[in-house]
Amino acid sequence: MIDPIQWVRCFAELIDEHTDELTELDAAIGDADHGSNMRRGTAAVVDALAESAPPTPAAALKQVGMTLIRTIGGASGPLYGTFFLRCAAAAGDSDFDAANFAKAFRAGLDGIVTRGKAESGDKTMFDALAPAADALDQRLADGDSLADALDAAVVAAEAGRDATIPMLARKGRASYLGERSVGHQDPGATSATLLVLAARQAIG
Ligand SMILES: [Mg+2]
Repeated sequence: MIDPIQWVRCFAELIDEHTDELTELDAAIGDADHGSNMRRGTAAVVDALAESAPPTPAAALKQVGMTLIRTIGGASGPLYGTFFLRCAAAAGDSDFDAANFAKAFRAGLDGIVTRGKAESGDKTMFDALAPAADALDQRLADGDSLADALDAAVVAAEAGRDATIPMLARKGRASYLGERSVGHQDPGATSATLLVLAARQAIG
């Protein structure tokens, strides 16, 4: 089982630990605000959850999504916000067992695709999240535990993140750089990998 609130708390902690790295990556191909934006947004989420604990996973994830949209800003706010709003809609009132979590994660990813129109190889967060979702689904279909499936999802996300380095950015601010975006790891794919790692850490 995954407690959705614990997932988000773990994500906030990982973002806090990696803020400088995200800032440096975004300084190379963006406007150097991804670290501070993500830290502000995830800290606001943790504060809001501490003030009022929503009664269901769906309500908690909806609150997370709304808070991220309001506080992260830039391109990442609506994308991460949409991810969690779609997760919320897919989660309903049920707890996150393996099947429900995979369904919600896939729904969140689909929301990012709808919102950002990103495809594989565009050098975005999609390049980390899509292989993670595929690995998760595949391992669960093979009968693995949620923990083992998420271990595989983390490895897939990391590989997807690392694969953004040689890519030419086709979305977002980095795409303005054209060829100069090549050779840099995508900040969004980097924070998205932390989102997958956070889910693994949140397994109770
Ligand atoms: Mg930026």
